[in-house]
Amino acid sequence: RAYDDRRYLERPATTASGERVRVMLNLADLGDVAAVAVRDCDGIGLVRTELMLRTLSDLADEERQFEHYRDIVAWAKGRPVTFRTLDAGGDKPIEGYTVAGESNPFLGMRGVRLSLLHPETLAVQLRALVRAASHGELRIMVPMVTQPAELDDVRALLDETVAQLRAAGTPCARPALGMMVEVPAAAIAIDTFDAEFFSIGSNDLIQYVCACSRESDRLAALQDPRQPAVLRLIRSVADHAARTGIELSLCGDMASEVRSIPALLEAGLRCFSVAPARLAAVKAAIA
Ligand code: PEP
Ligand code: MG
Repeated sequence: RAYDDRRYLERPATTASGERVRVMLNLADLGDVAAVAVRDCDGIGLVRTELMLRTLSDLADEERQFEHYRDIVAWAKGRPVTFRTLDAGGDKPIEGYTVAGESNPFLGMRGVRLSLLHPETLAVQLRALVRAASHGELRIMVPMVTQPAELDDVRALLDETVAQLRAAGTPCARPALGMMVEVPAAAIAIDTFDAEFFSIGSNDLIQYVCACSRESDRLAALQDPRQPAVLRLIRSVADHAARTGIELSLCGDMASEVRSIPALLEAGLRCFSVAPARLAAVKAAIA
């Protein structure tokens, strides 16, 4: 099977009927793709920046962030790279940044909610990203968006950051701004969001739709990714993307599970972002 999959690794992913499907990678740093040849993927669909920004001093260090982002963009050799703004909180606390003592952190201050609570920290990250965007095809994605106003606030700060850097003569570019679709409120009212692209975060979407912690093995049966409630929601987001021409991908673990690929293609998905070790298997499943 692994030998068979390798035959698919080195060609662009296409379905049996010849439709092209893009397969990108999820990573935190370049160590995650040490075993991957860049020509075998269509880009980076998700950089989880919170996995390298672990402390308050990391969050304040624009130069270190800039170098990290620029190196990932350089690795991709012109292919798109989507950086997610800090998705701290939930299971990923940062001392002095996240809110302590929440009784249910997954339903509390996490993702963009925290970024908007600390706009000065978000501004450092946006500056580093906007600077790195002058080195390649960089895009910015906002996690845990629940209401359109949250994305609008990030966009305002992004535009202000670009204007300031341009005024100072610093090399930079305005990246496309998109959002994760992982909160049911966003998936249900997807047409109300002014995003340049969408990426479905099935890990969180499933835990919130099913009211089951993603960390609970005992509730695994209730979190079947292919149950109708989940697939209908994914399909309705895909329908909206197709109607409007807004780009859509899916970057949760579901895209890395070969058993889910037929259902995702059926729902209308044509772009996945997967764990690097799953690249060959996912391309084989698409074929
Ligand atoms: C998701 O929720 O599906 C996702 C891709 O983000 P994370 O797993 O980092 O929450
Ligand atoms: Mg998530």
